[in-house]
Amino acid sequence: MKIDTKCVQSGYKPKNGEPRVLPIIQSTTYKYDTSEAMGDLFDLKAEGFFYTRLANPTVDAVEKKIADLEGGLLAVMTSSGQAASMYSILNICKAGDHVVSSAAIYGGTFNLFNKTLRDLGIDFTFVPADIDEAGLEAAFRDNTKCVFGETISNPSLDVLDFELFAKVAHRHGVPLIVDNTFATPINCRPIEFGADIVTHSTTKYMDGHACAIGGVVVDSGNFDWAASGKYPMLTTPDESYHGITYTETFGKAAYGVKMRTHIMRDIGAMQSPQNAFLLNIGLETLALRMERHCANGLAVARYLESRMADGKITWVNYPGLESCKYADRVKKYLPGGSCGVVSFGVAGGREGAVRFMEGLKLAAIVTHVADARTCVLHPASTTHRQLSDKELEECGVSPDLIRFSTGIENIEDIIEDIANALEKV
Ligand SMILES: *Cc1c(COP(=O)(O)O)cnc(C)c1O
Repeated sequence: MKIDTKCVQSGYKPKNGEPRVLPIIQSTTYKYDTSEAMGDLFDLKAEGFFYTRLANPTVDAVEKKIADLEGGLLAVMTSSGQAASMYSILNICKAGDHVVSSAAIYGGTFNLFNKTLRDLGIDFTFVPADIDEAGLEAAFRDNTKCVFGETISNPSLDVLDFELFAKVAHRHGVPLIVDNTFATPINCRPIEFGADIVTHSTTKYMDGHACAIGGVVVDSGNFDWAASGKYPMLTTPDESYHGITYTETFGKAAYGVKMRTHIMRDIGAMQSPQNAFLLNIGLETLALRMERHCANGLAVARYLESRMADGKITWVNYPGLESCKYADRVKKYLPGGSCGVVSFGVAGGREGAVRFMEGLKLAAIVTHVADARTCVLHPASTTHRQLSDKELEECGVSPDLIRFSTGIENIEDIIEDIANALEKV
């Protein structure tokens, strides 16, 4: 099946006489006739549901759809994108381990890595998005356990050099984990470019309607944990699971199964059946929506670029513009489109940006990105307001930066809104 067909058809497969639409199984628990039958589930000898913290039929169907969309072996859905990022690391790292991460990542992920996971004893080295092979090589240590990056980073819109990151990670016997939230599997399937694990905040384009927080981790099944020799948690018996060795019992699915039976069991940040149901409805139209988000995003970027002539706009960044710093990577990894998010600067710095924002009528000022409604955020006066102009520059957010998340409304209305707001600048 083609990807747009998978959006609609993958996952839930009703049998004769069953509901056509994925049902919400709003039950924490499942009944069995004998304790022995349930015991087999606990021993991982049989597949089935016994407690919704670990697995639920509604969530399971959506996990299968997302695994199919990404071309992965299996997926584990989580309560949020933050939980997905944390799980992807905690599944294979413990105190004393080290991770190489692109610095061009979502601010929440940066805090999770740089503060919370560091406090737990996992060390991180952050490398710039435009790092070369020697630089990336130099970031590795003997205790490095994985490499992390974002396909298109939020909010700086840097595009990951998949080939380089995958090559160097694999040379060191560690997997590449990629957060594919902004591109979605419609525009990029990181596994095809060498990524081993893919994560998402499903809160963004996947849900697409800004109604359900969620996350997912997809295991490609491609990474050979046993051959690497660096992951005893996968290749030696787990005493908390009756001495099961994940790589021996589950083969290619070792990482994904361990995430569910160990990390999900112990931490419990699962996605609710209700949210999985909403997410599934969003996924049905993902391919259609991304087409419009990308067409509108490119049109907005081109319009803004045209307004550099009269000095109202000082710069524009959009992966898809010919002037984009990463135009070559966009051509290679995102040939069908990137996303609907555009960043730019308006004349007059911080004050100019504030005046522009106040002039918008259709585009709403919200702390969100990547949903059907056009929305806009000025980090310097909101999410990053405690920082001075100098500190802002250091974390790659200029005081005039506006993050414009182009929705799926008619492009003429969106551009008219921008044009009117620019009158105030
Ligand atoms: C929003 C976001 C996250 C965090 O996801 P939540 O669902 O808000 O927890 C992670 N990565 C990226 C790229 C994001 O945009």
